[in-house]
Amino acid sequence: MHRLQDPRRNPGEAIRRLNAQSRSPGRYIGRFAPSPTGPLHLGSLVAALASYLDARAADGSWLLRMEDLDPPREPAGAADTILRQLDGLGLRWDGPVLYQSTRLEAYAAILQELREAGHCFACDCSRARVRALGSVYDGHCRGRGLPPGGDAAMRLRTRPGVFGMDDRIQGWFEQELESAVGDFVLRRRDGLFAYQLAVVADDAMQQVNQVVRGVDLLDSTPRQLYLQALLGYPAPRYAHFPVLLNAQGRKLSKQHFAAPVDASAPEPLLRIALEFLRHSPPTELAGPGEVLDWAVANWDILRIPARHGIPASRFE
Ligand SMILES: [Zn+2]
Repeated sequence: MHRLQDPRRNPGEAIRRLNAQSRSPGRYIGRFAPSPTGPLHLGSLVAALASYLDARAADGSWLLRMEDLDPPREPAGAADTILRQLDGLGLRWDGPVLYQSTRLEAYAAILQELREAGHCFACDCSRARVRALGSVYDGHCRGRGLPPGGDAAMRLRTRPGVFGMDDRIQGWFEQELESAVGDFVLRRRDGLFAYQLAVVADDAMQQVNQVVRGVDLLDSTPRQLYLQALLGYPAPRYAHFPVLLNAQGRKLSKQHFAAPVDASAPEPLLRIALEFLRHSPPTELAGPGEVLDWAVANWDILRIPARHGIPASRFE
């Protein structure tokens, strides 16, 4: 069991320690972690490809994790469809696929550890109440001593202090968690574990030391750094690339009806995704295998612009 750290004593020290840990050398272990809420679309293909290329260019491992923690949002067969699409594109992952739905006991044990150390509390505030606060939780239930379980969520108590990191694409990013987010949910009122807890638990368990993902998750990162500090886990290095935007300027997503990619024609898809990532394979390359090999050999993450969004229409 990890010894819990207390960043209250010196938040600055916690940050210096995180940054030192993020720079620690070691073989690159990266991952792609889709939610199986539908097939891959162009936006999620870019995420798969960027994380794949960054890992392979560093001669590292590329792991695959299914974030299947929300069954009502996951159509039957979606996870298998994603595996087939990745395979069709030639993006081969290392080792077995980790399904978060098999990790519930581990998440429960971590939650218990945090609770016993006094970092968590039960909260029965309604969603409407939290929304009325501008979604920054005000600590209302911190001292109420509600019993865990039942109809209560579990929240992690935030402390004064800044958590930040030097993103490989976006540069320095930091947040004062208590004022920007407030105490955040680790287990929802419906009993489902929250993304923040599961992703920190799994990155640590799989020894992931490099995370390449969309910028829509940038403002989740300080919460994850805080959890890592409390649990004594090393922080990975992070790289957040811009997301593809639809015509309304919103992130291309399954919720916004982005079209699934057709992995039966992989080469044009890979070329479009590479163009988005500012890499242009020569036209004389023949076949997806040659395009991927070229991309691994020529990968430079610093070509990706430090922006938050790029219109998808530029690539259609
Ligand atoms: Zn509450």
